[in-house]
Amino acid sequence: MLGSGLAGLRAAEVLREKNFQGKITLVGAESHLPYNRPPLSKQFLAGEWEEDRVRLRLPAEFHSLELEFLKGLKVVGLDLQQRSVQLSQGTAIDFDGLVIATGAENRQLPALEGRPRVFTLRTLTEALALRQALSDAKSLLIVGGGFIGSEVAATAHGLGIRVCIVEPQQTLMYRGLGEEVGSAVTNLHREKGIDVRCNTEIAHVHDDGERTSIELSDGTTHTPDVILVGIGATPTTDWLSGSNVHLSNGVVCDENCRVMTADGLAVKSVVAAGDVARWFSRSQNCLVRSEHWTNAQDQAVNAAHTLLLDLNGEGGNALPYDPVPYMWSDQFGKKIQAIGFGDPTDEVHIVKGALSDGKFLAIMERENRFVGAIGVAMVPLVMQARILLTEGASLDVAREKLAS
Ligand SMILES: Cc1cc2nc3c(=O)[nH]c(=O)nc-3n(C[C@H](O)[C@H](O)[C@H](O)COP(=O)(O)OP(=O)(O)OC[C@H]3O[C@@H](n4cnc5c(N)ncnc54)[C@H](O)[C@@H]3O)c2cc1C
Repeated sequence: MLGSGLAGLRAAEVLREKNFQGKITLVGAESHLPYNRPPLSKQFLAGEWEEDRVRLRLPAEFHSLELEFLKGLKVVGLDLQQRSVQLSQGTAIDFDGLVIATGAENRQLPALEGRPRVFTLRTLTEALALRQALSDAKSLLIVGGGFIGSEVAATAHGLGIRVCIVEPQQTLMYRGLGEEVGSAVTNLHREKGIDVRCNTEIAHVHDDGERTSIELSDGTTHTPDVILVGIGATPTTDWLSGSNVHLSNGVVCDENCRVMTADGLAVKSVVAAGDVARWFSRSQNCLVRSEHWTNAQDQAVNAAHTLLLDLNGEGGNALPYDPVPYMWSDQFGKKIQAIGFGDPTDEVHIVKGALSDGKFLAIMERENRFVGAIGVAMVPLVMQARILLTEGASLDVAREKLAS
């Protein structure tokens, strides 16, 4: 197992649940026991939860898996011919089967990198540092209004901090929610008092060694107590360069989560899962990748099954991984949920509630098909929409059932 996040842990658990008796080595660049990232921008950042509550498993549960856990170590290379991985401290591990679950890492903004009071958020260590910085801050500027930036804005607002978000797109969370729903979320933030500056970019940055000042394209200059850069993530694949693994916005996999080589061959007993994996979706007839919790968990299950079948010479029985994607976000006490392969260009129909109330269910139409749904404070209906989407319901059926 490479990567001790949710996907790596879950794959190891499935192997044990399926009675895999062999040795399992879990290599993790971080030195913590596997933990959950979603609370890092919510309860943990707010100071409501401590480290023990963000653990994915109790220590006793984790140790019962009988893994060799190489924590604080990085894998730096993969030799597919020799079936071995190289570790940062110079040793190598041979394997019969391999799960690649190295996740994603934050995109950096060179203009802000290394400047005073500038933070990013992905790991527990980063969350601790940001939480500490916010503890005596009065103002926070967030660069990037994606879903992490928007969540941190809501959490920091709850701590009594003045928040400004700078977002180059026309709305917050535009890439995931599209213009109409993104505007509703933007309004929700503005109503709460967040200073949201859309269609705005960073024009100039300077610091005096203690504080960083940012001049924006709208002509204003901000010198906040804390700056968070939240401009998305990229799959962690640098360590695979030169390995002959097909890399293209992630580790390219077949429909069973088997890793593909650059020559287009699926490698037996070598699978990938979670944020790092870009797999072939049968229903979409293309490669897809997801940076969300539910996918990391579900894909790890499928990848571990494929791995076990390959090891037993039964790889032909592997099942395709083709879920209806699901993500959630918590902001200002409201749950925002999205299902399906929505796209900002899809047509949006509000079937329940109203955008202006900040409580609604929207369904997405593309070429007269029902392709996704987004709900704000509509949990049961989103779950119903998820079932309908899984069943392949038509647009009319979805509209009728969800609106009733
Ligand atoms: C702050 C935050 C909040 C989130 N909130 C939500 C939410 O509300 N809803 C939602 O659906 N999703 C959310 N997500 C996304 C979700 O947490 C991720 O999709 C999920 O954690 C992915 O799991 P993973 O195991 O694929 O990757 P990761 O959790 O990133 O784990 C990968 C692990 O591999 C390690 N690694 C990387 N390179 C190497 C290497 N070379 N050698 C060894 N180890 C390596 C990394 O250090 C890391 O520990 C959030 C993410 C963040 C960061």
